[in-house]
Amino acid sequence: MKFIDPHVHFNLEPLSKNFEFYYNKSKEEGVDKFINIGIDYETSLLAIEQAKQKEDIYIAVGYHPHDSEKYNKDKLISLLNEPKVIAIGEIGLDYYRNYSTKNIQLKAFEEQLKIAIEYDKYVIIHTREATKDTWEILNKYKDKLKGGILHCFAGDVDFALDLIKSDFKVAVCGNITYNKKLQKAVLSIPIESLIIETDSPFLTPEPIRKKNRVNYSGNLLYTLKFLADLLKIEEEKLADILYKNTLQFFLN
Ligand SMILES: [Zn+2]
Repeated sequence: MKFIDPHVHFNLEPLSKNFEFYYNKSKEEGVDKFINIGIDYETSLLAIEQAKQKEDIYIAVGYHPHDSEKYNKDKLISLLNEPKVIAIGEIGLDYYRNYSTKNIQLKAFEEQLKIAIEYDKYVIIHTREATKDTWEILNKYKDKLKGGILHCFAGDVDFALDLIKSDFKVAVCGNITYNKKLQKAVLSIPIESLIIETDSPFLTPEPIRKKNRVNYSGNLLYTLKFLADLLKIEEEKLADILYKNTLQFFLN
């Protein structure tokens, strides 16, 4: 089976320290494309450096809501010269941790959406305990956006279905293997809009999460197996559908 991991942080420890190892191990497990996701300027820069070494690694650059205070428009725009940058991300709102204040998060999110529109890039949306505000801001821009990925779907079905109308895909992480609310919610998402991702090195799926704290793209296999069972679809068939759904982000 072939996989694409549209959300991996090769640029964060411990993956960054053992980049070659985790990259090769992922390839052995059938992962043939990646989006390496920045969370601030430095990690976006590293994501670009790593992508220059590997033909099949693409990049998202941006300031994560936790790092909104560092947001710098000029620095972000300077990263967009690299042709393998296909998305602005991960961007959004996180009221669960609130590492940056709400106002600062809102401003950085909105600014980055405008840049995505101006430079014709996809967006990768991170939202945690902040659906209402995220939805409100996206409503202002979604018609002009090229589309994107709702990263790590948390179970807000109405929000997800609305984004799908604006060419978004809904990404399921390894936490679906142990989150009952999510397992129920995902049944309401049309299969042609579903994709899977890891958020490596975080969110290792069951049944290996106790043993391997460090997640990597090869573990997509476990999420796929779980989802195939949940959706009652043959594994190979589901892998093929998810692969094609994710491929759209690499085609132009
Ligand atoms: Zn992430």
